[in-house]
Amino acid sequence: MSFDTDLFVIGGGSGGVRAARIAAAEGGARVMLAEESRMGGTCVIRGCVPKKLMVFASAFPEMVEDANAYGWRVKSEGFDWPRFRTSLEAELDRLENAYRSTLLNAGVTIHDTRATVIDPHTVRLATGDTITTKHILIATGGWPFVPDIPGKELAITSNDIFHLDSLPKRALVVGGGYIASEFACILHGLGVEVAQYYRGAQILRGFDDESRGHVANAMQARGIAIHCGTDVLRLEKTATGIRAVATDGSEREFDLVLYATGRRPNSTCLGLEDLGVKFGRNGQIIVDEWSQTAVPSIYAVGDVTDRVNLTPVAIREGHAFADTVFRGVPTKFDHDLIPSAIFTQPELGSVGLSEEAARDLEPIEVYSAAFRPMRTLFAGRQDRVLMKLIVSQATRKVLGCHIVAPDAGEFIQLAAIAIRMGATKEDFDRTVAVHPTLSEELVTMRKPSRRT
Ligand code: NDP
Repeated sequence: MSFDTDLFVIGGGSGGVRAARIAAAEGGARVMLAEESRMGGTCVIRGCVPKKLMVFASAFPEMVEDANAYGWRVKSEGFDWPRFRTSLEAELDRLENAYRSTLLNAGVTIHDTRATVIDPHTVRLATGDTITTKHILIATGGWPFVPDIPGKELAITSNDIFHLDSLPKRALVVGGGYIASEFACILHGLGVEVAQYYRGAQILRGFDDESRGHVANAMQARGIAIHCGTDVLRLEKTATGIRAVATDGSEREFDLVLYATGRRPNSTCLGLEDLGVKFGRNGQIIVDEWSQTAVPSIYAVGDVTDRVNLTPVAIREGHAFADTVFRGVPTKFDHDLIPSAIFTQPELGSVGLSEEAARDLEPIEVYSAAFRPMRTLFAGRQDRVLMKLIVSQATRKVLGCHIVAPDAGEFIQLAAIAIRMGATKEDFDRTVAVHPTLSEELVTMRKPSRRT
């Protein structure tokens, strides 16, 4: 049977774009891609990229203070949000165009419209056209989830935060995960008075306990009011703002309420339900280790499959799919030992097992050092960094590394290479320190803090 195309990708985010490019440019496939919004997806348009630029913007007030401690006479005249936002929008336009050019240069045909699946080999565009295809890749990502509380329409999500007309004076951030904790820090750094409500006992559930406690303490010391064990019951509009009535009995007023209570896969209304594609409890598309769904011609990668929801993971899944199906190189992406960073202030970089997860598996040694780093100590700050290694007593392998420090995301990327290669504690010890740096601590911790 002949098809109009070899691959039809639905979704122009990190996973979809990588798969389309590799299939077309390196696999020689005829490829089409449909994107109903802007090319680049969550990461480029409403996630990692604009967030990181806001992280940079929010760090300057502390730098100005520190510059004074180092002898500079400098004074900030305040933050000009509209000016920053205009530059941010221009940068996103540039990146969106770069993504588009990459696809076009690879020979991919782009459809700037919504596509749905009508049978295992046919998609329909919102324009009414139908296209037959040998394979379909669903790479439609996820979308913020806001729980169904009275007044939820008064809250915004991370999708909206980049488009504000002005910055609020008082903000409430709800949630304790990546997005909530990062935006609590960003808004605080930009001069907003921030409260963060989290329903659990400590923010950043799932990360190493000592590390998340370290981040939470540092955030609180900077002036972010973290309320754990607290959730919003309802939101009410008032003459001067939004009142949040909470489970701890409090009623506080804010100018902005940001909900960062998780994301859900964008898997509905694509036409997949009737075709035999299987879904999980969160609506995620169930795939096997080749990213193949229960319908052999339909694959899915990225957040819509809710495996590990990170851009580089979606990219690897998309690449592995294209290698397997179009380059004749069967490739499974290994979801183990994925490093990640939370861009709070200070950042938390992690790879491998937390202390709690590791000690449930085998006897371990924990090497942990918290200290005040030279640069900020000189400026009179109380900030402490944390460097932590989890080591197997039996194999001596480093099972996990957790770093709370400025630029921890940069450090953890490099530590992850060693850990991925199976480095032992003694390999770390043999490595000569780079002095004076923060990360030299990783190769100079001699005595375990505890053995469990
Ligand atoms: P997370 O899953 O990290 O956090 C969701 C938070 O919301 C948790 O604290 C959760 O609490 C809480 N929550 C969930 N449901 C409710 C509810 N009904 N009422 C109150 N609180 C609730 O999601 P995020 O939205 O922060 O991020 C989504 C994904 O995006 C992450 O999984 C991450 O993979 C990715 N991401 C990665 C970043 C990075 O790499 N730096 C940055 C931003 C996002 P509880 O812990 O109790 O379940």
